[in-house]
Amino acid sequence: MAYDVIVIGAGAAGLIAAGTAAMSGRSVLLMEKMEKAGRKIRITGKGRCNLTNARPAEEFIEKVRTNQDFFSVAFAEFNNRATIRFFERLGVKLEIERGERVFPKSGKAWDIANALVDFCEDKGVKIVYKTQVTAIETMAGKVTGVRYRNSRGFERREETSNVIIATGGVSYPSTGSTGDGYNFAADLGHNIEPVRPSLTPLVTSHPQKEYLNGLLLKNVGAKLYVDNELVQEEFGELGFSERGIEGAVALRLSRDAVDAIIDQKRVKIIVDLKPALDEETLLARINREIAEMQPSEFFSELLRKLVPKQMVVPLAKEVDFHSKTYVSKLTDAEKMRLVKILKGMAFPISDYAPFQFAIVTAGGVDCSEVNKYTMESNLVKGLYFAGEVLDIDANTGGYNMQIAFSTGRLAGQLKK
Ligand SMILES: Cc1cc2nc3c(=O)[nH]c(=O)nc-3n(C[C@H](O)[C@H](O)[C@H](O)COP(=O)(O)OP(=O)(O)OC[C@H]3O[C@@H](n4cnc5c(N)ncnc54)[C@H](O)[C@@H]3O)c2cc1C
Repeated sequence: MAYDVIVIGAGAAGLIAAGTAAMSGRSVLLMEKMEKAGRKIRITGKGRCNLTNARPAEEFIEKVRTNQDFFSVAFAEFNNRATIRFFERLGVKLEIERGERVFPKSGKAWDIANALVDFCEDKGVKIVYKTQVTAIETMAGKVTGVRYRNSRGFERREETSNVIIATGGVSYPSTGSTGDGYNFAADLGHNIEPVRPSLTPLVTSHPQKEYLNGLLLKNVGAKLYVDNELVQEEFGELGFSERGIEGAVALRLSRDAVDAIIDQKRVKIIVDLKPALDEETLLARINREIAEMQPSEFFSELLRKLVPKQMVVPLAKEVDFHSKTYVSKLTDAEKMRLVKILKGMAFPISDYAPFQFAIVTAGGVDCSEVNKYTMESNLVKGLYFAGEVLDIDANTGGYNMQIAFSTGRLAGQLKK
């Protein structure tokens, strides 16, 4: 049987696109190479799925890093409010948390993935798993079908005149996103903007980094410098792991940091451990702490009052004082040095974590070759794109899932 449309990839974009196409009475085949749908959705938001962000439309669009104008059409068609209504109609209760981030009330990302699968099945989409599309066939600039490897490993072909590529990017490849869509698009003449990891941990060459593994700093300020120029400033959580510097702040800084590293520029992050206090107030606080201490107490004990325990040794080394220095012996100049470091501890960034640890892929199918009103290719009739495979990426906060939903919804309408 020939299908009206074949959707490649049962992630957020492919599921919504397939269900949407089926809503208008089209026969839809959704091909997924993994054994189940939405593997990535199920691990989003630390298993809770931050599915969108409830901030006003104009502010939302500002969080999209690449091809804002292109995306704004799909977003106007199916925006964050529409996404919220869509899931609530499917019976998923939602709640809005700090930063306008929207999560399922159950705290389970599975509820979002399962609701999308139910939506597809309810509309009559046929979903086949363990089925990997290997090529898209065309004739005279029009889609004619797909070739695929079925669950038994046999090569087969299926005719269709419409294909939606929703294969995602290349980040977290264990979820099935291995970049196949880029190859399909490139084979059909599309330009692929260079792909690179985004929202990914940043590797530091800081000499004390081993001491910091496992530490999570809350409410810190962080500034990204590229070739000594301030590029971006963030506030929030910063974590350290064997992968590098992570946490929401570092991930947000990573988008520009990665590009700068690729361009071989010098990158550093300056962390303000006491963003609520200016230098003068911090110095007064240090003097107050010292006044309440015994003169024979050590510098490390003063640090213990100012920063988490795990930071004491690296900070003492950074300030370059022996942790066994008596607090009573600290000179004004030394206290000021401590203040300066608490207000601006520098972490040189030497590299970034690979795709395996990146939340999203920056780069992808060049949007200038795609019709923003339909998501159809300008080069091949009947070829559509949706989701992360496109060169659109955004900040953390629910924006990337919304990109998948908005573009998937529009592609699924199969407008000509
Ligand atoms: C750990 C993690 C946490 C995240 N948390 C959030 C969050 O809380 N909020 C947010 O907004 N974003 C989050 N993201 C980003 C977000 O998950 C993605 O941007 C979004 O899921 C992309 O959806 P997609 O449908 O375009 O692609 P994907 O979800 O990657 O789906 C693509 C699908 O295509 C299938 N496929 C690929 N090639 C083929 C082929 N040849 N044949 C058949 N099937 C194929 C894959 O198996 C996969 O199922 C997170 C990402 C990660 C990795």
